[in-house]
Amino acid sequence: MTPKEVLEFAKKNGAKMVDFKFLDLPGMWQHFSIPIEELSESSFEDGFGFDGSSIRGWQPINASDMLVVPDPNTAVMDPFTAVPTLSLICNIVDPVTREPYTRDPRYVAQKAEQYLKNTGIGDTAYFGPEAEFFIFDDIRYDSGAHFAFYSVDSVEGTWNTGREECPNQGYKPRHKEGYFPVPPSDKFQDMRTEMVLVMQQVGLQIECQHHEVATAGQAEIDMRFAPLVKMGDNLMWFKYIIKNVAYRHGKTVTFMPKPVFGDNGSGMHTHMSIWKGDTNVFAGDGYAGLSETALYAIGGILAHCRALCAFTNPTTNSYKRLVPGFEAPVNLAYSSRNRSAAVRIPMYSASPKAKRIEFRTPDPSCNGYLAFSAMLMAALDGIENKIHPGEPLDKDIYSLSPEELANVPSAPGSLEEAINALEEDHDFLMKGGVFTEDLIEKWIEYKRENEINPVKLRPHPYEFFLYYDI
Ligand code: GLN
Ligand code: MG
Ligand code: MG
Ligand code: MG
Repeated sequence: MTPKEVLEFAKKNGAKMVDFKFLDLPGMWQHFSIPIEELSESSFEDGFGFDGSSIRGWQPINASDMLVVPDPNTAVMDPFTAVPTLSLICNIVDPVTREPYTRDPRYVAQKAEQYLKNTGIGDTAYFGPEAEFFIFDDIRYDSGAHFAFYSVDSVEGTWNTGREECPNQGYKPRHKEGYFPVPPSDKFQDMRTEMVLVMQQVGLQIECQHHEVATAGQAEIDMRFAPLVKMGDNLMWFKYIIKNVAYRHGKTVTFMPKPVFGDNGSGMHTHMSIWKGDTNVFAGDGYAGLSETALYAIGGILAHCRALCAFTNPTTNSYKRLVPGFEAPVNLAYSSRNRSAAVRIPMYSASPKAKRIEFRTPDPSCNGYLAFSAMLMAALDGIENKIHPGEPLDKDIYSLSPEELANVPSAPGSLEEAINALEEDHDFLMKGGVFTEDLIEKWIEYKRENEINPVKLRPHPYEFFLYYDI
C-alpha cells in the first residue's frame, strides 16, 4: 500500500485511532496510539517522536529522542480494539542523523534480506516457523495457581505448575500423549480455531492447528512460509493474537520454552529455503533431495550453531528444553526425517519446490527478526565458505552411547554458554553490516545483566526440595 492507500483504507474501515507497533531488543511489541486526524501522507516520511530510553536494550537517557516511522505495507485493522483502530508496524529512526536505528530488530532483518541479494546466492529467503505454546488458566482467577507456580511437589520433586483443576474434570491427556486425541481430551479446539480466524483477518496464511504433545494445553498453529521481514512481522501478529484470544477466554498463554518439567517443551522449528527467481536453490540430487548449496547452508548452521543459539534460544529457560527425550534436539547433527537431529530434512513431498531444511533448535522465546537473520547469515557463511556438514546421522540420537556421540558436537547447555559462544564467534553475523558490533555487544551485556546473573542469584524452588531439611 502507498501512504495514500493507507489513509483510504483507514477511512473505509471507519478508523478513529492509529496504533503504532514496534519492537524492543528482546522482541516484544511496544505501542502507542494517535487520533486518525494526526496521520497524513507525510507521516510515513516524518515519523512520530517517542522516548527511546524506556525501551529495553535501547538508548541511554541522555540520547533518548527517537522516531517511529510507520511502514505503509503493514496496514491492517487491529482485531482487538473496541474502537476501530488502524495498526501500523514501524521502523525506528534517529531524529538527528535520520539513519535507521542499529538496534531495531526489523532493520537487522531488512539488512539481512539486502545482504542475501548482494551475495548473488539468491533473492529471497523463506521462513516457516512452527511456534508451539502452552495455554494455562489465568492466574488472576486462580489464587492457588499463583502460589503453585513456585512450589515443588514434595514426593517426585516435579514442578507444580497450577495446571490441575479443582474439581478434577477428567479427560486429561497423559504426559507426552497430547498429540493428538479428539475432544473432550483436547479442550482447546475452538479456541485454537478462533485464533486461526483472527490471524486470517489480519492477512496471515494458516496451514494447520493442533494440540501438541505435552499434557493439556500445549498447542501449535502453523503459518505458511514468508520472506524474512514479512515473517518477522507475521510472528509478532501471531503471538499478539494468540495471547489476546486466550485472554478473552480468561486464559493465559506462554511462549516460554519449558514451562513444565518432565513433559515436552515448546519449540519453534524453523523451515528455511533460499530462492533465486523461480528456482529453489536448496533442491538438488544430493542427500535427501538437497543441492550442494543446501548442504553447505546446513554446514554453516551447524558450525555456528552454538553462537546462533544466543539468538534462536535466547532465554535461560531455553536450555531446559534442549535435553534428551522430548523431541528437542541436543546434538548438532542433520538427518532426513529424524526428530532428534538439530537439522531435519522433511520428506513429505518429492517436489523441488517444497525442498527445505528444518532447523529444530530454535524456540518461541526468540526475537523472530534477529533469529531468522542470524540463521540466514550462518547459512550464507556456510555456502560462501563451502562448509560441508559431514555425514548425516540417521539414527535415534537419544539412544546413542557416549562413545558413538564422541564426535557429534552438542548445543550449548545454558544461555551463559551460548552468550560466551556468541562473544567468540560473530564475524559471520557482521558481514555486510547486518548485525553491528553495537547490537551484539548490547545483546551480550543485556542477557548477562538482566537474565543470566539475576537467575543465578536467586534461590531456586528445587533447592528447597533438596536442601530445606539438610
Ligand atoms: N515440542 C517439541 C520441541 O520442543 C517438538 C514436538 C513436535 O513438533 N513434534 O521441539
Ligand atoms: Mg509441527
Ligand atoms: Mg510441533
Ligand atoms: Mg516440525
